[in-house]
Amino acid sequence: MYHASQIFGGLKMAGYLGDAKSKLVHHLACKKKECDIYNIDMKHRQYFTPDILEQATNQGFIPCKFCIQH
Ligand SMILES: [Zn+2]
Repeated sequence: MYHASQIFGGLKMAGYLGDAKSKLVHHLACKKKECDIYNIDMKHRQYFTPDILEQATNQGFIPCKFCIQH
């Protein structure tokens, strides 16, 4: 089962990943060690459609200070 954002545009990887537990949104391309995004529990992983930062913040997520430049 694939999430819709992984199908749109033929992209295999989403740009943004939200952590529903911490309410932080990360950018997957950055892969900062500080984020520890690979340890986010599967059930807390939140993808966004459209896959843009505005969508994440509209859903109440806070941009991660490590991987998303302000
Ligand atoms: Zn981050």
